[in-house]
Amino acid sequence: MSTTTASPSDPLAAELPRRDLDICVAGQWRRGRGDRYASIYPADGSISAELNAASADDTAEAIERAHQAFRTSGWASAKPHERARVLHRVAEGIRARREVLAQWQRRDNGKPIAETRALVDSAAGTFQFMAAACETLEDQLTPQRGAHLTMSVHEPMGVIGAITPWNSPIASEAQKMAPALAAGNAVVVKPAEITPLMALELARICDEAGVPKGMVSVLPGKGSVVGDLLVKHPLVKRISFTGGTTTGRRIAHVAADKMMSVALELGGKSPTMVLDDADLDHAVAGVLYGIFSSSGESCIAGSRLFVHKRLYAEFMDRLVAGAKALRVGDPVSERTQMGPLVSVAHRASVEGYVTRGLADGGRLLAGGFRPEGEGRERGCYYAPTVIEGLANHQSICQEEIFGPVLVALPFDDEDDLLAQANHSVYALAAGIWTRDYKRAWRIARAVQAGTVWINTYKQFSIATPFGGWRDSGLGREKGRLGILEYMEQKSLYWGLNDTPLPWAAA
Ligand code: NAP
Repeated sequence: MSTTTASPSDPLAAELPRRDLDICVAGQWRRGRGDRYASIYPADGSISAELNAASADDTAEAIERAHQAFRTSGWASAKPHERARVLHRVAEGIRARREVLAQWQRRDNGKPIAETRALVDSAAGTFQFMAAACETLEDQLTPQRGAHLTMSVHEPMGVIGAITPWNSPIASEAQKMAPALAAGNAVVVKPAEITPLMALELARICDEAGVPKGMVSVLPGKGSVVGDLLVKHPLVKRISFTGGTTTGRRIAHVAADKMMSVALELGGKSPTMVLDDADLDHAVAGVLYGIFSSSGESCIAGSRLFVHKRLYAEFMDRLVAGAKALRVGDPVSERTQMGPLVSVAHRASVEGYVTRGLADGGRLLAGGFRPEGEGRERGCYYAPTVIEGLANHQSICQEEIFGPVLVALPFDDEDDLLAQANHSVYALAAGIWTRDYKRAWRIARAVQAGTVWINTYKQFSIATPFGGWRDSGLGREKGRLGILEYMEQKSLYWGLNDTPLPWAAA
């Protein structure tokens, strides 16, 4: 893929040549001291922006100044309603720039515009929700068991490190920044190197909304430099990480040595299960959406399909026809359902999995090629791909591909289904399609996953906790109590009588 100028049909084409980004080091906007690089639009290889990455020195400085701001800016000690008011302004700032942010996010990772608008809305909703969580959070009086009054209160932690992947930048970053700030902390964000745009825009909006200087830093750069130091630095008190399981495991080791709190939102290989009484129209649409929206670059993608053997043939015919009819193309278009993959390297990785699956005996029912025409040969496009004929234990049925590749497997009965669905190192999400609520209940309770969708898929609510089991992660994000993940709990005992304790009396 060659690097070119943006197509004139791109709404941001006129702005692109001016895009030279500063990074945000504890409220100071300045050129990073790391290597210079370009953020590339995966739909056509044009440059969206150029910037200098944050260096290790920038990272250390941001952390030290964030620690200072945490101690002195008054944010940590502000009344909850005062912090909430600022966070509401952040939400409004995001909404005011909705279209611009959505267009930039489209350029950041090539997602279709309809999807990036939804991600921007979700980021605004997250700040709004965490403002409410902050303002309504209650400490507790615990039952009295002696001549003392006992309470449980919560304190902010200090400097939080937030490390995010490239697949849904603004939403992932808001999910970490909003609760971290709502709880009174400073936050240092390390977005994926290849998608730096959204976190920087969020930092500007926080600045304008009145978050004190120093409380927010955004350090685009390499995981091995910025991310590594952020995790290891003694002043960082918690890491909230979203990304791959290999990286997450490495972070967990460092966190264990530091005795640091950590949240890990990791990979998945989620089963989506079609029972023999499913509403087929809904199930076909849901399975297609579950795997192919976001080009399959989604931790919760329903990438393992289990269909009851009685309706397997009919279901697969409809599914394959649907996959072939998906509109794969220009992310600018409102009609596009699937954009390009994020990069040339990532597409090569997806292709490698497909090659391996076919070598292992898989049969290609759809896709398996790079779509061309209408300019798609300039981008990192890959067709929606469906493979059958493999067993659940084979490698492409077990490894996360993070692309538009679905493996389909028949099942015999509920026991067989659950045995196959739960046979995975991952346990992030699952989908069930059935008209029988009792079977849905049984399977939903028996399947091992952090989130189960029943007759729907890939729906989200900031009010509902999210996270994975096993290799899919540790801890939960979102939900009214998600803010507590960013606070330390403290117990207070208030002596209530004038009698000295027994020792003193002796
Ligand atoms: P990744 O390679 O693990 O990277 C995630 C982030 O970690 C990036 O910012 C990366 O920096 C950084 N990083 C890399 N090495 C690091 C290190 N040694 N120390 C600290 N940070 C480091 O994952 P990815 O390929 O970007 O994202 C895809 C993965 O994310 C998939 O496995 C997907 O399932 C998972 N994901 C999970 C969820 C969830 O909620 N469970 C949501 C979305 C994605 P660079 O920019 O240098 O790579």
